Amino acid sequence: MTRRKIAAGNWKMNMEFEEGMELARKVSHMDIPDGVEVILGVPSLYLKPCVDMLLHVPKVHVSAQNCHQAKKGAYTGEIAAGMLESISCPKVILGHSERRAYFQEDNAMLAEKVDRALEHGLEIIFCCGESLDTRKAGEQNAFVTNQLKESLFHLSAEVISTLVIAYEPIWAIGTGETASPEQAQDMHAAIRSFIAEQYGQEIAEQIPILYGGSVKAANAQQIFGQSDVDGGLVGGASLDAEQFQQIIQSF
Ligand code: PEP
Repeated sequence: MTRRKIAAGNWKMNMEFEEGMELARKVSHMDIPDGVEVILGVPSLYLKPCVDMLLHVPKVHVSAQNCHQAKKGAYTGEIAAGMLESISCPKVILGHSERRAYFQEDNAMLAEKVDRALEHGLEIIFCCGESLDTRKAGEQNAFVTNQLKESLFHLSAEVISTLVIAYEPIWAIGTGETASPEQAQDMHAAIRSFIAEQYGQEIAEQIPILYGGSVKAANAQQIFGQSDVDGGLVGGASLDAEQFQQIIQSF
């Protein structure tokens, strides 16, 4: 089956306001191949102006980089899924390895965040991925499949089929080191077959699985060319309009 193809940028905590808006404006004018969807994961402060700017731009969508697991309340500095919905932000990235590492987000907390996001109609880009030690020990498949099991497998088949999964080996994020196309394909195929075991092949075939970890213009085509790789979650290279355009053209 033909799955959605996605080039998602994750700006993380980069870009001051005018720079960010200029980048979003450039993306809004980019040439995007048919069947490809572009997502911009922008800092929370820029969500509303970016949503407004991109509302009528076909194929380009805005995403938050996180939301809190509580509905609302005394959580200073945090953002609730309902707040994202209230500004028409359509998507949210959950479980990025930086949030897991620096903000102690574990699989159980992420299961709660997933539920809150879904209650508010947000499409989730759910990140998973192993550390270098885990890979060296040959335990990467068990580790990643456990992340999915503990955070996602309480969902119904109908709901899980709406998710996007991003496989991001931690050792490849922001390091310049990329998983080889074969390593990416192996893990993506393992993720898909793990989902198939639980939900059936038809559901597993519908879910786009993105690769993340030092994707750039020079390697995107090879990585996106793997049969179970449906695009990329791109950090550093998404901050550069020219590189990001080339990545978008790599499908
Ligand atoms: C990311 O932000 O998820 C990421 C993969 O970053 P980079 O592309 O810079 O490695």
